[in-house]
Amino acid sequence: MFARPRVVVSRCLEFAHCRYDGSVISAPEVRTMEGEAEFVTVCPEMGMGLPSPCQPLRLVGERELRLVQPSTGNDYTSSMREFAHGFLRSLPPVDGFILKNRSPSCGIADSKVYGATEKGAAIARQAGLFGRAVRERFPDLPTEDEGRLTNRALREAFLTSVFALASLREVEAEERMRNLVAFHARYKLLLMTLGQTRLRELGRIVANPDHLPVSEVLCLYRATFPSVLRRPVRRPSAANALLHAFGYVTDGLSSGERAYFLETVAEYQAGHVPLAAPVGVLRAWIVRFGVSYLADQRLFFPFPPSLLSPEDSGHGRELT
Ligand code: SF4
Repeated sequence: MFARPRVVVSRCLEFAHCRYDGSVISAPEVRTMEGEAEFVTVCPEMGMGLPSPCQPLRLVGERELRLVQPSTGNDYTSSMREFAHGFLRSLPPVDGFILKNRSPSCGIADSKVYGATEKGAAIARQAGLFGRAVRERFPDLPTEDEGRLTNRALREAFLTSVFALASLREVEAEERMRNLVAFHARYKLLLMTLGQTRLRELGRIVANPDHLPVSEVLCLYRATFPSVLRRPVRRPSAANALLHAFGYVTDGLSSGERAYFLETVAEYQAGHVPLAAPVGVLRAWIVRFGVSYLADQRLFFPFPPSLLSPEDSGHGRELT
């Protein structure tokens, strides 16, 4: 059972022919989420009044970025800022963003920036104006572009985060302490992979030693959980989480199986295999032995299996 994440998506990704050249972009990573997520689509350029097709825009400037249309000399910087501010403020609670890469409006890190309005090569790559506004207003929400989502590891991290945040929204809507306790328990091993300190921090909030009202506890949890989720997995912490889970299945295993698993964890710790390798082995044993505690753990089943895909471009790029 998974909550349905609400994700804001650039409208030209599968939804409408709204690009400057009147085209629409095929984005299978967005399309496959359709049955499992609720999309809020947006085209910031059309939102601020431009038609499609229209003459292209570009980002210009070394310090102060401007969004201009070289063919007309029009400057759309203020209009875009105004649109972004109004749109983002009017959104219902959302769990993440998928924006069009390289766009001077929607790009989240890799939009070309030019030194002059009309001529010259790009001098830098930065977020577009709308992409930048998203990251400023929602710094802790998962935000990706469709290019990065072709990388399997980045895609799975994004899906894990948006499904976690959607599930937390459900807990918030019901305002029951026992639901928050159950939520935290389901994410315990996943949080453990991000470091014991973070897990303890969230655990303290849930333990509620000051007997705060549930609404306040939920506020504290909401203020902490998304930023914790954004932290990278730490190999030593992840190895601890794996060995903790291993303790639940070890009795049913042969000595050869145990040795194989420990070897896989050592390989992971040495950076020779991804986390998915030991997680995959454990997942098979969780199913084989019917260990319900582990079957509930989002470390092993973080999002609907229909979204699992072997496709991997291998082209992950770090955000600046
Ligand atoms: S990249 Fe953004 S602004 Fe450009 S067409 Fe797509 S949705 Fe519209």
